[in-house]
Amino acid sequence: MRLHHVRVLGPTGLSTAQTVEVNAEGAEDRDATGLVLSPGWMDLHAHLRDPGFPQKETLLSGATSAAVGGFTHVLAMANTDPVTDRGRQLTDAIALKAVGAVALSDDGRHAIDRAMLGRALEAAAAAGLPVLIHAQAEGLGDDPDAEAVAVTEALDALRDVGGARLHMQHVSTRAAVDLIGAAKSEGLPVTAEATPHHLALSSRDVFALGPHGNVNPPLRSPDDRDALCEALVDGVIDAIATDHAPHELAAKQAGANGFHGFETAVGVVLGLGLDGGTVYRACVSRPREIVGQSLEDEWILIDPDAEWRVDAASFKSRGKNTPFQGRRLRGRVIMTVCRGQVVTERVMQHV
Ligand SMILES: [Zn+2]
Ligand SMILES: [Zn+2]
Repeated sequence: MRLHHVRVLGPTGLSTAQTVEVNAEGAEDRDATGLVLSPGWMDLHAHLRDPGFPQKETLLSGATSAAVGGFTHVLAMANTDPVTDRGRQLTDAIALKAVGAVALSDDGRHAIDRAMLGRALEAAAAAGLPVLIHAQAEGLGDDPDAEAVAVTEALDALRDVGGARLHMQHVSTRAAVDLIGAAKSEGLPVTAEATPHHLALSSRDVFALGPHGNVNPPLRSPDDRDALCEALVDGVIDAIATDHAPHELAAKQAGANGFHGFETAVGVVLGLGLDGGTVYRACVSRPREIVGQSLEDEWILIDPDAEWRVDAASFKSRGKNTPFQGRRLRGRVIMTVCRGQVVTERVMQHV
């Protein structure tokens, strides 16, 4: 498929309009004036709920939703039933790597103490895997302090273990950003992600959202949100990851934490007003570098000017629990191509 007049998102931002050939069986050449071609985004943090919770999501509905949202790779967290693998005992990191695990994570809970984290970092280092943590000292609830304490402990553990790599999931506070920034200046091998909702929303949105504003970590103050956005630009936050956490409506109304993430991510991220190079780093290159994946033949075509109103009923995901319901977003994925196949294509309606 030849795309004419398309701009390409790369490490230095957007190219000028050009003709690009994308390997896409059966797809016709087209005029792509105004459109942006990006390598497929990678989501370091998603809950696919399979096995165990088909009312929330399945591998098929989750993967379809990811593709529609522009993600050609997602990292599925382990808090399934049965758990893919997690707990108070160390897992066999080398065996997990042999069957395809690209990282170890405690996400869903932070039931890990300092000594256990140290041993997990050692085991992961021996297997060449990073450890991803949901940094929140459980005994302290979900206050900003609970994040700062867990981040401090984790960085201390990392300092003691040579060769380990630590990745902080869904960083949400200025205090954590400052700690991670200082650790990076010190040369510690730590990376961090922030979610689209923590970058775009704040505690001011919580009241209007009711139970649909419940998420862990919670939406923070506008000052915390500003700190995350600044940290994303200056590279203290490496990546944007959705923490896609689908729930059925009844669970959400009963107070379950978590947001649908995949199908709103591109619109929300483009709405942050970042430069193209930062978007490429946060959504394409750093997520892959963090888990050692190389970019494959995977592309998304984005209409950055498409305005649309979020309607969860149209989501491919079983999780309709979006905090962006009814909001107008600008920017949408119109085609996803993987390994020569058009995986999803949206018929554009001008609204
Ligand atoms: Zn988490
Ligand atoms: Zn999560």
